[in-house]
Formats: sequence, C-alpha cells, structure tokens
Amino acid sequence: MNELARVVSQFGLETLLQHIHTVIALVGSDGIVVSSNPACDGIKAMPPESSQFEDHLPPEEKSEFRRRLKLASENETSSRWIINLVTDGAGTQVGYDALILPAGDGLALLFAERIAVDPEVSRVIDTLNRRVKLFRIEFEQAKKLVLDKQTEVEAVIAQAEEISNIDALTFLPNRRQVIRRLQDEALRAQRYNSLFSVSVVDLDHFKSINDTYGHATGDDVLREVAMILRNNIRHPDLVGRYGGEEFLIILPNSPLEAASEQAARLCRQMRQSVIRVADQTIHITISIGSAQFRKDRDNWQTLLERADAAMYEAKKAGRDGWAASKI
Ligand code: GH3
Ligand code: MG
Ligand code: MG
Repeated sequence: MNELARVVSQFGLETLLQHIHTVIALVGSDGIVVSSNPACDGIKAMPPESSQFEDHLPPEEKSEFRRRLKLASENETSSRWIINLVTDGAGTQVGYDALILPAGDGLALLFAERIAVDPEVSRVIDTLNRRVKLFRIEFEQAKKLVLDKQTEVEAVIAQAEEISNIDALTFLPNRRQVIRRLQDEALRAQRYNSLFSVSVVDLDHFKSINDTYGHATGDDVLREVAMILRNNIRHPDLVGRYGGEEFLIILPNSPLEAASEQAARLCRQMRQSVIRVADQTIHITISIGSAQFRKDRDNWQTLLERADAAMYEAKKAGRDGWAASKI
C-alpha cells in the first residue's frame, strides 16, 4: 500500500481525480458542493459546484444525507451507506456505495462508487420483485377470504348458540337457558339482597289430552299454551319450557305477591282460552306454584323445589289454581 501511494503520488492528485470513476465531492455543512471531480459529470443531474448536492438525490433520501453530512461536518463522524443518485432528467436512480468523511473546517468529503449491476442479476431482481408483488396481492385476497369465512363461521355459531337456547317445540327459552337465568338471579339476589320469585306452571290432566286427541295434537296444545303464557307475562319476567308440559316463570325484583297476581291472571286467561287445533276445540287449565328467594337460605335448586312443591299443593287443592311455598 505504501509503495502504491508513493508511485501514485508521482502523478499528482489532480491527475488522479481527473481519471478516477468514483464520485468525489467536497461538501459544506450547508450541503453546497464546494468542489467535485469530473466523475460527477456522469450524474446528469449533478449540480455545478456551489449548488446543493442533495438536488440529485431522490426526495426520500435527502434527510438521511443531511443527517450524515451533519455528523461528518460537525461531529467529525464518518459513515458509509447506500444511496441512490438520480442520473438523468427522467429520474433514473442508480445505487451508489457512499462514504462521507469529515474534512475539517465544517466540510465533508463524499465518495460515491457506483454499484455495478449485472444486467442478468437485475433481470432476476425484476422478476422476483414482480413475484413478490403478485404474492402480496394473493396474500391480501387470501386474508380477505379468511376474514369472510370467519364472519360466516361466527354467524353459524351465533345461530347454533341461539338454537341451543330455544325449545324447538314452543320456541320459548329451553330448560338450559331458563336454569342459567335462574342461577344468575339467585346469585344477584344473594349478593345485592334483591327480591325475586319463581313460578312452576303445570298443565292439568294433560295426559288425557294426549290420550284423547293423540300426541301430535298434544304438541299443538303445548305450543298454544306457551303462546298464551308468553303473551300474558310482562317484561322483564321470563317464561321458559322447563320440562314436558311444565313451564318456569322467573320474576326478577318481584315478591311473592307479584307472582300471586300473575298466577291468578294466567290461570284465568288459560281457563277462558279456547284452543283450536286439528278441528278440535280444547279447554285447558293450569296449576301454578310459586316461591320467593330467601337470602342465605335458598339457592336456585331449593327455590325450584319449593315452587314445585307448591305447584303440587295447587294440584291437591283441586287444580286450576295457585299456591305459594309454605316454607
Ligand atoms: P296433572 O294435572 O296431575 O299434571 O296431570 P297430567 O296428566 O298433566 O300429569 P303429568 O303432569 O304427570 O303428565 C304429563 C304428561 O304430559 C305426560 C306426558 O305424556 C305428557 N307430555 C310431556 N311432554 C310432552 C310433549 O312434549 N308433548 C306431548 N304431546 N305430551 C307431553
Ligand atoms: Mg307435569
Ligand atoms: Mg300436568
């Protein structure tokens, strides 16, 4: 290296700078080119000396150049990076391996060597770029498809969930849903000391309806009864099908008196209703038993048992009536 420096120095730096293909420019901290070598002429947009070097950088690379120039001219820090220089009026960009060195007095010395690109390599890069672009498009489409499918699956799950909570014969909340609600209410009443009552409703002599008209007509009657019950309870009360011909009514924030009033209304409504199914006119009555939740003494099961026992009391008392839990 020393020998090389000695021999080369015989030619004088001026001559070397004339012939070298590396872009060499002395740049002030303000970005103005103080002096440059003829290699700079290869860059068509290269501004003449005393104009801004960054004028032939693409817009997105200007700030990075400024940052490195500042480091070199003010902090005496050199750095190396790849920059693109605009080489013609059409905006063609060519990659350069750039080195910026502090040159003292607020100046920086910039070396930029063109990165030789084999035309074959650039063709391969082009093809790869096109493939990447295509892949991105396909990926976006696949992502959209997955999202659509996910929405579809969620809708089906929501539907299944709903169906699993609904009784298929009467379309009332099924046993599962009504028990879940009962558990919620029991927890709430225990925690917040709120009132609530439940009523068990059982159809009177329903076996004889089945025996007389057949099971299918019995089902129709159950559907009609369910509708009458639903139409005669008020929000936020909830009626669900608890068993074969048994229904459960939950009365949030309601004492036993409210359940009693409701039961009287339902018994009357049922007694007065004429159920017409399969050319038959059928009359039906119901028996109802109710119980009010007792904090620290009941859970949802004991409450249900008490209401059920009361319903049997109503049966014993002659049916078509209401009874309250005695305990
Ligand atoms: P009680 O007044 O004592 O309640 O008399 P009951 O005949 O209604 O007696 P119980 O409640 O013990 O009998 C219920 C009957 O309801 C028995 C069963 O055949 C019938 N049942 C239960 N579920 C269904 C159903 O889904 N469809 C039909 N059609 N009948 C049902
Ligand atoms: Mg029964
Ligand atoms: Mg019955």
